[in-house]
Amino acid sequence: MVGTRRPPYVLHDSGSIAARVAELGAAIAEDHPAGDLVLVSVLKGGAVFLADLIRAIPRSLSVDFMAISPFGSDGDAGGRVRIVKDLDEPIDGRAVVVVEDIVDTGLTLAYLRSILLARHPVSVEVCTLLDRAVRRIAPLDIRYVGFDCPDLFVVGYGLDLDQHHRNIPHVVAVEDVAAAQADPTCLDRFLPGVPVPLAAHDVPE
Ligand code: 5GP
Repeated sequence: MVGTRRPPYVLHDSGSIAARVAELGAAIAEDHPAGDLVLVSVLKGGAVFLADLIRAIPRSLSVDFMAISPFGSDGDAGGRVRIVKDLDEPIDGRAVVVVEDIVDTGLTLAYLRSILLARHPVSVEVCTLLDRAVRRIAPLDIRYVGFDCPDLFVVGYGLDLDQHHRNIPHVVAVEDVAAAQADPTCLDRFLPGVPVPLAAHDVPE
C-alpha cells in the first residue's frame, strides 16, 4: 500500500482479546501446577493485560510491578534500562512470569530478564500480548504469545500514544502516527462504550 495510510482501525477487538487471554491464563496454570508463582508487570503498558490475565489463572499467585526507563534517549543503550521502581518482594526460589504489552526489538526485555535471573528465581518466562517478531534484535524465548503483531504502531489495551488512549479496550493499528498525534480525537471512536467501528483482524497486505 505505497503512499496510502489508512485511518486507525481495530486489529484485535475486546472480545477476541478476552478469548485469547483466557487461553493464555489456562496455559500458565497448566504449566505451573505447583510452587510459588509471581507475575511481574512492567509499568505502565502491561498493567491492563496483567489485570485481565491474573483473573484467567485458576491457581494461587502473586503480582509485583517494575517500572523502568531507558538510559539516554538516543536508542544506543542496547536495551539497558534504569529501574525506576523495583519489585517489592524477592524472587529467589519462585517461578516468575514477566507480563508485557508488546515485545518489539526485545532489547528491554532481554536486559530485564538478565537482571531477574541474577536473583535466583526458579524460572523467568515471558507472556506478551503482542509479539512484533519482525523487529526483533535481541533473541528471546517467549513462552506465551497472545498475537503476532505486524510492523505497525498500535495503541489501546494498555498501550499508549503520548501517554493517552491506554483505556481503549481494543488493540488499534495506527499507520499514520504523526496524524494521530496532531489530531488525537481520531481515536475517540475506539473508546469504551462505542460500538466497534471496523471489522477486527482487518490487517492490510
Ligand atoms: P523493545 O525493547 O522490545 O523494543 O520495547 C518494547 C516496549 O516499547 C513496549 O513494552 C512498549 O512500551 C513500547 N512499544 C513498542 N512498540 C509499541 C507500539 O506499537 N505501541 C506502543 N504504544 N508502544 C510500543
